[in-house]
Amino acid sequence: MRRIPEPFRIKMVEPIRICTPEERQAALARAGYNPFLLNSDEVYIDLLTDSGTGAMSDRQWSGLMLGDESYAGSRNFRHLQDTVTELFNYRYTLPVHQGRGAEQILFPCLIKRLNSSAPVFLSNYHFDTTAAHVELNGATPLNLVTPRAFDTHHYYEWKGDFDLEALERTIKEHGASNIAAVITTITCNSSGGQPVSMANMRAVYQLAKSHGISVVIDAARFSENAFFIRQRESGYQDTPIRDIILEMFSYGDMFTMSAKKDGLVNIGGLCCFKDNEELFRQVQCLCVPMEGFVTYGGMAGRDMEALAIGLKEGTDLDYLHYRIAQVEYLGSRLLEGGIPIQYPTGGHAVFVDAARLLPHIPAQQFPAQALANALYLEGGIRGVEIGSLLLGRDAKTGEQKASPLELLRLTIPRRVYTNDHMDYIADCLIELKSRAGQIKGLVFDYEPPVLRHFTARFRPLE
Ligand SMILES: *Cc1c(COP(=O)(O)O)cnc(C)c1O
Repeated sequence: MRRIPEPFRIKMVEPIRICTPEERQAALARAGYNPFLLNSDEVYIDLLTDSGTGAMSDRQWSGLMLGDESYAGSRNFRHLQDTVTELFNYRYTLPVHQGRGAEQILFPCLIKRLNSSAPVFLSNYHFDTTAAHVELNGATPLNLVTPRAFDTHHYYEWKGDFDLEALERTIKEHGASNIAAVITTITCNSSGGQPVSMANMRAVYQLAKSHGISVVIDAARFSENAFFIRQRESGYQDTPIRDIILEMFSYGDMFTMSAKKDGLVNIGGLCCFKDNEELFRQVQCLCVPMEGFVTYGGMAGRDMEALAIGLKEGTDLDYLHYRIAQVEYLGSRLLEGGIPIQYPTGGHAVFVDAARLLPHIPAQQFPAQALANALYLEGGIRGVEIGSLLLGRDAKTGEQKASPLELLRLTIPRRVYTNDHMDYIADCLIELKSRAGQIKGLVFDYEPPVLRHFTARFRPLE
């Protein structure tokens, strides 16, 4: 198969350098064997996240020069609002500082209008900040993704889909009057950037509507999801991406968006409503004290301009083809090299199955974190653990929660690294595989009580 080259020329470069093996060893020891605590200068290829790490285009950079920094009614806000209406056919737009900004102003309003003593949110999978905002507001998040998502080595096109039977059952169990909203996360970040099919989005919307429940689209990776629909769902092969997006968003009543992903900007977000003016007005009232006045919501005028341009660039078919193919290319190189991964690869990351690669390291010694450290020492590459360490302990019993998977996530920033970088990453991991048996598990030197993965310190076992 012919490899898809980057659909851009590089006109500005940011040099990166790899430290010596001795420097990497010292840096990792200083960081307590936790890659989160490395300085970025100590990292050669940074695959920690795809959030806010993308490269803007020349057109976006020129947009920054057109910033209208008026406190109210900025022309960049109007450009952003017009772009939202054009792309999604939603009438009301609130800019916010990033995705969680939308969550913190929308969710209290969704809960308040229910008047329930036990409000719940139902999602294919709540992103971690999404679940946190649901819980902070006294509601319960329930995840209803298809069980096929957890079977890493079997191909399934739609590992982001809702389990429709579970959705119907759960609505009946809790009663529609206790359900604040159904949240359709596209793509499904937590199952590995896996897409949701149009058929599933449609069925979810119809089911929710039949019970009078609102649907929120968590839209961070909306254009990657649209590309997968065009690629994999019958009837969409010749449909323009923009038309697919319009149909996807017709199966929602409002959306929250972290613009740091498919929006192709380094910071920003959106909270938009199809036509519910009353709810929009209520959310506006929270926006002012929490995020900022309703025509900037925590964003600079220039940043809103860059976002208006980025939203459209992110829907370009050639760009999306290259983007998805680059992630898939890394995945296929790893598979050929005998590295077990979540298959098929998702839109924004390759997930290495560390439990299968390092069967000699038990879950409580964090195999994926040990693999992350080994990959850093091998090639200066920083990935992130998605497994037992991230999951943490049960709040009541203090026991380590059992994680279904121990994954090392290699998240690919947008338009930043070339396919040669992908080859380098694959070569390093394949090299490591030959010495996998020598990689040692980890024990805590310091375990913080909450969100421990960010600041924990470890010691490798002898
Ligand atoms: C990143 C993300 C968020 C939160 O957005 P921030 O911009 O990080 O605040 C919410 N949902 C999904 C699916 C995300 O990927």
